[in-house]
Amino acid sequence: MIPRAPKGTDDILPPESERWRTALRTFDDLADRYGYQLALTPIFEHTELFARGVGEDTDVVEKQMYTFEDRGGRSLTLRPEATASVVRAHLDRGGDGILKVAYAGPMFRYEQPQAGRRRQFLQVGVEYIGEPSPEADVEVIEVGYRCLQACGIGDASVLLNSIGDPEDRVAYRDLLFRFLDQHRDDLSTEAARRIDTNPLRALDSKQDETVLEGAPVPIDHLGSAARAHHAAVEAGLRRQGIPFVADPRLVRGLDYYNRTVFEYQAASYQVAQAALGGGGRYDPLAAMLGGSDTPGVGLAMGVDRIVLAMPDVVDAPALDAFVVWTGDERLEAALVVASSLRAAGFSADLDLSGKSVRSQFRAADRRRATAAIVVGSEWDEGLVTVKRLASGEESTMTLEGTQAWLKNR
Ligand code: AMP
Repeated sequence: MIPRAPKGTDDILPPESERWRTALRTFDDLADRYGYQLALTPIFEHTELFARGVGEDTDVVEKQMYTFEDRGGRSLTLRPEATASVVRAHLDRGGDGILKVAYAGPMFRYEQPQAGRRRQFLQVGVEYIGEPSPEADVEVIEVGYRCLQACGIGDASVLLNSIGDPEDRVAYRDLLFRFLDQHRDDLSTEAARRIDTNPLRALDSKQDETVLEGAPVPIDHLGSAARAHHAAVEAGLRRQGIPFVADPRLVRGLDYYNRTVFEYQAASYQVAQAALGGGGRYDPLAAMLGGSDTPGVGLAMGVDRIVLAMPDVVDAPALDAFVVWTGDERLEAALVVASSLRAAGFSADLDLSGKSVRSQFRAADRRRATAAIVVGSEWDEGLVTVKRLASGEESTMTLEGTQAWLKNR
């Protein structure tokens, strides 16, 4: 028997993988246009990085980490997220100046799998490190929003909140504690357990929404600096034309955030796991990792969920040209034709196996090619026959001529 893929993991193969590629390319292109360079960090890190960076009392660290001992006796963990790694890497090389980076890669969390909630999932994200200005928050939120739009998720919007600075939270935490303590018996076991360890985390408990309706919320208890920052973020989002909705109980699962927190949702993607992405400002993180104070803000989006929310684009051509060849002796010519098209920037492919012309045309359809370029007997005079697969329109021309013809769709 062939071993199965582990629970909560997926094989992403064609044709579905085309949607993933679209999402990855869209994100990469946007990150590039907004000035984010590439960051590649390890897929496993010392467990301590996440215990310190993500927070001991978070679901991620408590229950979801893939932790193992390596052959040298070190405790390592498959990364559940990338922000702690990127900040660690920045601090490792001195932590000076501004770092604007984008990443894409698998993350690992031991969760109960369902659609959009996997044990290995693919995240894309950006980190803007070293910049305290609220305009950095606006830019980061914009990158994610524009990415969802460009992926065809036109009804995406931003849920926005501010959880203030750590010093604002001291007094607020007491207030919240008192409220939760009074309602202890009405809360779910999970939320009740949080009261004594991390009351803020009880606030976004979905199953306790009715009880929590009257709870004090962080945004009503911001210090003046956090309040001004939040007003500037809201003004910036309006200026950039990014729709947002205030969500006073949004706190997010990780401990390192301060001030701005946000998530992306889409009206067309309303399922149990609805957040397409999220992020926030994490000024305290560098110090939590033992570095000097370094502000930062970032976002992470789940490609698994973006792909589920993307509209169907099955009709979009996947290949510019499929090269069809006749007679054994023309394989080499077909290879030269494919290669010249590829060099000219077109996507081109062909079947090497020597199947009939009919079955090569069927393959061209399966691959959703725009055109077939036929290398037949006319090749002996230096010509090919080109055919648009949608309309059937056909003509014979030189190889050089095909490039202009292909461009002219
Ligand atoms: P988080 O780091 O938890 O804020 O996650 C950021 C984004 O990553 C979420 O909004 C999801 O889109 C995605 N994500 C987080 N956990 C999972 C998971 N287990 N499976 C699929 N996507 C996930």
